[in-house]
Amino acid sequence: MSKPEKFFDENGLRLDGRRVDEIRPMKIEVGVLSRADGSCYLEWGNNKVLAGVFGPRELHPRRMQRPDTAIVRYRYNMAAFSVEDRIRPGPNRRSTEISKVSREAFEPVILTHLYPSAVIDVFTEVLQADAGTRTAAINAATIALADAGIPMKGLVSACAVGKVDGKLVLDLGKDEDNYGDADLPVAMTQDGDVTLIQMDGNLTQDEFKEAMELVKVGCKQILDIQREALKSKFDQFDTEEIEEETVVEAPKSEVEIDETVEVETEVVVTEEEEVVETEEEEVVDTEEEEVVDTEEVEEEVTADDENDEEPDKNTDDEDVEEGETNE
Ligand code: ADP
Repeated sequence: MSKPEKFFDENGLRLDGRRVDEIRPMKIEVGVLSRADGSCYLEWGNNKVLAGVFGPRELHPRRMQRPDTAIVRYRYNMAAFSVEDRIRPGPNRRSTEISKVSREAFEPVILTHLYPSAVIDVFTEVLQADAGTRTAAINAATIALADAGIPMKGLVSACAVGKVDGKLVLDLGKDEDNYGDADLPVAMTQDGDVTLIQMDGNLTQDEFKEAMELVKVGCKQILDIQREALKSKFDQFDTEEIEEETVVEAPKSEVEIDETVEVETEVVVTEEEEVVETEEEEVVDTEEEEVVDTEEVEEEVTADDENDEEPDKNTDDEDVEEGETNE
């Protein structure tokens, strides 16, 4: 592709119709790989990136282990078919450099000390490239790490800012990246601490300050999209769990509810009856009846006991006597 004649139209909009402070549309899908502990598929404009996280798991060979902390490995790779001209497969200088700086972008946020001697592997694969792939990969990796349940101080969001035709623009498109005056990819934590910064081209000090303000806005927008993606994944997970529980326990709980209602109704009815009876009858009568009843019951019990005991005694005696006789 050749250099465009102009990068802005008469309304100040960019080649793809965006404002200078507007990022490309981003779509995030969480948990797309069943064999990974965490994963993410991210589309950002025409970029398509897949991220998979494996671990924490024991690091082999053991001599590479660190007894006080986990190590993080990060691989950035561009698929051979990700650009117009085929890329030679395998690592190269560019991908090795991007892998290193991207790993460092996560170092301050991952709580590696919780997993001594372990390794956390982050793989990012660029399936389709259209400028800003290292930042796209970092955004996808953050989600995959969160999906894997890796403890982090917060999410990392990344975006590039650059200068085109003397104007600062957020999230460079392909032509802006290729033919612009400067390209400044930045990653930052949700607290605004910068964990990655690189620069291609030239900016004045004032432009640099302004660019940092602009990229903060971009990272904040991306953070919101990342949060939303994670939220919708775990919301869906919760709902599924609740639905499953309801299906399993529904018949049981229905019975329980019915029993409870019956018991409560009975108690209420009995109390009401007692109250009504007590009001109709004289209190003295009730007491006399009760006394008589109790005496009768006691007498019956005594008689029964006596009757019960005697045969038992007799039986025992007989047994003993029989035993003695046998001996
Ligand atoms: P980023 O993708 O992070 O902006 P670069 O600035 O190095 O990284 O690359 C800008 C764009 O140039 C990439 O997104 C990709 O579209 C294209 N590109 C990078 N490397 C190659 C390559 N080896 N062959 C063809 N195109 C490439």
